[in-house]
Amino acid sequence: MRNPRRPEIREMGQISPWRRTLAVFASTFLLALPGCSGGDEASDAESDGAAGAIQGLGGSGAGLGGASSGGAVAAGGTAPAVGGGDLGLGGAAVGAGGAAVGAGGAAVGAGGAAPGVGGADPGLGGADPGLGGADPGVGGAATGGFAGSPGVGGDVGVGGTGAGGGGGAPGALSAIPANGTIGLEWPVTPGATSYNLYWSTTADVSPTTGTLIAGAERGYVHRDTSNGQTYYYVVTAVVDGSESAPSDVASATPGGEWVLEQLGTGDFTDVVTGAPVPTVPVEQRVHILLFGEGYLASELYKLHDHTDHSGARDNDVDRWIDLVFSIEPYSLFPEAFVIWYLPRASNTTIRDPNPDTAFQVPVDVSSFAQMGSVPTDGATAQIAWAAIDDHLFPPADFTGPAFRRARNAVAAFLIFDPDYDQASVSGLATSLQNPADANQRIAAAFGVGHAHEFTHSFANVRDEYMETSNSAPSSWSGTSNVVGTNVCGDLPWSHLLYGSTINPSVDGLVGAFGDPSLGYHSELLCLMNGTHDNGEFYGTSTGSCSPTSCTLRSEDRMCNYCRETTALRVFQRTGILPVDDDTAVAEWAASYRTPFYAQYEFRVPGVHFPGLVPQSNDRRDPETSDAERQIYQACVP
Ligand SMILES: [Zn+2]
Repeated sequence: MRNPRRPEIREMGQISPWRRTLAVFASTFLLALPGCSGGDEASDAESDGAAGAIQGLGGSGAGLGGASSGGAVAAGGTAPAVGGGDLGLGGAAVGAGGAAVGAGGAAVGAGGAAPGVGGADPGLGGADPGLGGADPGVGGAATGGFAGSPGVGGDVGVGGTGAGGGGGAPGALSAIPANGTIGLEWPVTPGATSYNLYWSTTADVSPTTGTLIAGAERGYVHRDTSNGQTYYYVVTAVVDGSESAPSDVASATPGGEWVLEQLGTGDFTDVVTGAPVPTVPVEQRVHILLFGEGYLASELYKLHDHTDHSGARDNDVDRWIDLVFSIEPYSLFPEAFVIWYLPRASNTTIRDPNPDTAFQVPVDVSSFAQMGSVPTDGATAQIAWAAIDDHLFPPADFTGPAFRRARNAVAAFLIFDPDYDQASVSGLATSLQNPADANQRIAAAFGVGHAHEFTHSFANVRDEYMETSNSAPSSWSGTSNVVGTNVCGDLPWSHLLYGSTINPSVDGLVGAFGDPSLGYHSELLCLMNGTHDNGEFYGTSTGSCSPTSCTLRSEDRMCNYCRETTALRVFQRTGILPVDDDTAVAEWAASYRTPFYAQYEFRVPGVHFPGLVPQSNDRRDPETSDAERQIYQACVP
């Protein structure tokens, strides 16, 4: 099924037949990559789990210096240097994020001066960084939300070694409650080689009394917790082989319907400087909301299974993550994302003659399962938004890419097809409108071709310029990956053309592939390209790229321009670059683009992806012959 006209991805993404995507689906799912890790949030958390009231105390053991992102000052200062709390000394805070540095610096003295109680050997104390308490104010004040801007850098002091234990403890530990899961994050402790997390169901948790989770990474998700039961945590840092004092206690009571799957820490690489960005507060990170659709209660383990999570990862949520985050630029910035899933059981599968599924996503199963049209304000939108409203961090900013869309949240529906025993169904990207407020929408991707569909939704880029039913766009901008011109200087990706600073030596890769009536794309092969009709233009009558089988989609890579544009979205959605596209693109071009390619390279298939021949294909030229030949469509002066 295909839309007669596919305007722009703005309202309707592509629909690709299951047959074409199946092979890809199977092969791409073999890719795997480890989940992200790390966490950084500075407030203790406590919540009822449902709507999530989080409160916190802020400054943790390390106390000092809280650094804060964006120059928010050392609130930590407020939560003084109690230093390593009970123990050694609070590390001296060295400050992490910009402004905070100064403050932190000041704190050093304090920490150093206040030798620890137990701290026999304050030694390092003063010396080491510490930053700890990030911005207590935040956490403390917040009720009902994570208000705070956590301290970014917050961190620890390594402190004395003595009787009382190591010195400064890790800074503000925070606990994020979800359905059967609790996310735990704390600031980096400079010099730490690992962290130990301890938990208990009693408030007196300590390294002595708690259950050890050795080597927990920042952004740890504690799985298999019981809803309604309060869990208490402390964390320690291991520096130079010695374990620090514990952080202050954080607690959370899991509950609600959303399961926390992966907690990015908000610490990712700043393209401009190569250093970490100031920690992006959790509510400003990109929240990916995965909806499980069409799973019977007895099949929900196929959506996700905590046991399988650290094993074969043979479930739909883990496969989705492994696929999407194996591709650049997602693989470059995993810490920008927080991933959740909603395991709501359906009464029937999508194959039932009278389907009664959890989100009423319309699926046509008359042949292979494919998406029906999803109205922006239909039943699916209503049900989904009711669930979104119950999320711990419901989207509040609707200035995201494209019209009235959530800046910090993207929805993706994993639709279970019993015929394949996993999420499938041909894809679609659209947006869902909040029934309570027409000015609030969330970009939503449905079905297989997960990375492709998700990128439509996340980056608001188009695709399938080689589709007979498409038409060339009449207008475009600096983020458009399909345009209506093939004039070199007018291409949004003209900076990538052969001979440019970024691409001084690779001819035949970047140009204007397409057709005047359908539009032009920068490279022939790209994750965002189509899976059908391509052969009408680039195929031979037979062979590997016949009119009916040719696909120009490369499932494991985006073209350089789509990759760059999608990276731009990471910085826009997390509030680092402005939401306005023209402004953001100008800033990207001036400050980000050159360092981006310096750090991550101009990616050439065949070099970076062995086995692929760059921009070569069998071309069927309908006007001349079916002769096979390499093709390269240069732009025109
Ligand atoms: Zn592309």
